[in-house]
Amino acid sequence: MQTDLSAALDIGGTKIAGALVDAQGRLVVRAARPTPADQDGATVMRAVAEVVRELAAAPEWARVAAVGIGSAGPVDAAAGTVSPVNIPGWRDFPLVAGVRALAGELPVTLVGDGVAMTAAEHWQGAARGHDNALCMVVSTGVGGGLVLDGRLHPGPSGNAGHIGHISVDLDGDPCPCGARGCVERIASGPNIARRALANGWRPGPDGDASAAAVAAAARAGDPVALSSFERAGQALAAGIAATATLVEIDIAVIGGGVAGAGDVLFDPLRTALRDYATLSFVSGLTVVPAQMGTDAGVVGAAAAAAQRSRLDAFTPAP
Ligand SMILES: [Zn+2]
Repeated sequence: MQTDLSAALDIGGTKIAGALVDAQGRLVVRAARPTPADQDGATVMRAVAEVVRELAAAPEWARVAAVGIGSAGPVDAAAGTVSPVNIPGWRDFPLVAGVRALAGELPVTLVGDGVAMTAAEHWQGAARGHDNALCMVVSTGVGGGLVLDGRLHPGPSGNAGHIGHISVDLDGDPCPCGARGCVERIASGPNIARRALANGWRPGPDGDASAAAVAAAARAGDPVALSSFERAGQALAAGIAATATLVEIDIAVIGGGVAGAGDVLFDPLRTALRDYATLSFVSGLTVVPAQMGTDAGVVGAAAAAAQRSRLDAFTPAP
């Protein structure tokens, strides 16, 4: 039997998605359950088990070579444990052991969700063909991952590239992580909305005070809304420029709900990048929207598993 598939799990605060993914990144079989995020850890794990059993019941399961898991973080890939901020029942939860018990002899690889999204964008999306890339998810939080020298760089614990908690404002607001002035504290959706409200922006008659509503107001020319997105773009630019200066990336890919704001975010971001990425070796740096959409998590978990198990079939195209 040809083993040309990866089994992939994408575990987030609202949904547990699973898929069998082929060597071209196509989803051959899908399964999903809502995440019972407000329940105890064993209940959440039962939902994971239902997804794995549904995948394993497919005849294609016999072709699976490896299992990849992308999880909301923090994760500890070395220990095989996860402590997702948005799943309180899981703290140092032994997710890899739990999945291994369901998946038999297959190797299991765990990475953070930002690293998984990066693997997907590098394999099939906006970072394809780039040997050195930073990919980011800007949403409720800000996460990310790195491709260096043509390979995904998850780091020892599976969290490398977590740009959301680089400080870009030395004396800035305290961040829930314990530091100050983090990229996430300025550029995440809730913080874009928070800053707009604090500076006098008010939602419309529908009461929608989300970052998407701020983006709509910015597109209509609201100066406070525009200014909140400018500040977010500036924070992202400073973090991207720092990353480029450290490890010489030539592209930054931005996905997540806030990236859906489009030019309202990307225009000030690119302008600010010219202010921060000034040295000759980073001056060619480009910033583009992500391409992989909602399947990025499972496609990326599959790519991470395949890289770990060195399947030639999964080597990203040049
Ligand atoms: Zn932080």
